[in-house]
Amino acid sequence: MISRRAMIAAATAVPLISCFGARDARSQEMVPPDSGKTPDGALELLREGNRVYATGTAAERDKSEQRRLALLPSQSPVAAVVCCSDSRVPPELLFGRGLGELFVIRNAGNTVDTAAMGSIEYGVAVLKVPLVLVLGHQRCGAVDAALSVVRKGTDYPGSIGRMIEPIIPAVLQAQQAGGTDLLEASIRRNISRTVNRLRHASEPMLMTPIAENRLRIVGGTYSLAKGEVDFFDLA
Ligand SMILES: [Zn+2]
Repeated sequence: MISRRAMIAAATAVPLISCFGARDARSQEMVPPDSGKTPDGALELLREGNRVYATGTAAERDKSEQRRLALLPSQSPVAAVVCCSDSRVPPELLFGRGLGELFVIRNAGNTVDTAAMGSIEYGVAVLKVPLVLVLGHQRCGAVDAALSVVRKGTDYPGSIGRMIEPIIPAVLQAQQAGGTDLLEASIRRNISRTVNRLRHASEPMLMTPIAENRLRIVGGTYSLAKGEVDFFDLA
């Protein structure tokens, strides 16, 4: 009988890389020819993709069997995007990207819990994404729910209350700063707080590539009405 300790040892002996697909020499061939694997190149790729998307003229991306098979050995996404689960905010569409191009971390309210943080670290350390974009959006229901907690003491059932807890400090800061549109201010504040947290994470997997200019972490907010992403917190 295999002991629990032996099982854990066997499981942890599996290289992290094999869980998601190895990067090898072939993986370099999988990088789309138009994707820049530098922080600035990646940001420009997303900017340009969104610019075209917002005009409503974006071309279809390659969804062929050939493309799927080409990606089979590995992935080499150009950016990680932490975004909201909102069905109106699908990152690949907003940025005109296709299969194998974005490493997406999604939950309602685009917060970073342990699972999200681990996913980001994996994207940076193993997949070598040069850009992490924290993307919020206009009329975000999760931020609105946090606003309702602050304003009315609303109590949400199940895990929803705990899920939106990390957004509450953003609402309180936005409220303190004043302004006419507390929801929009809270959405931006929520993004900025996450960007700052990631930039100042004590984890060397993020700190080292930032210090060596191999990684940028930026914020953005998506306008449902205009289809445009306003990038901010670019430093
Ligand atoms: Zn949302």
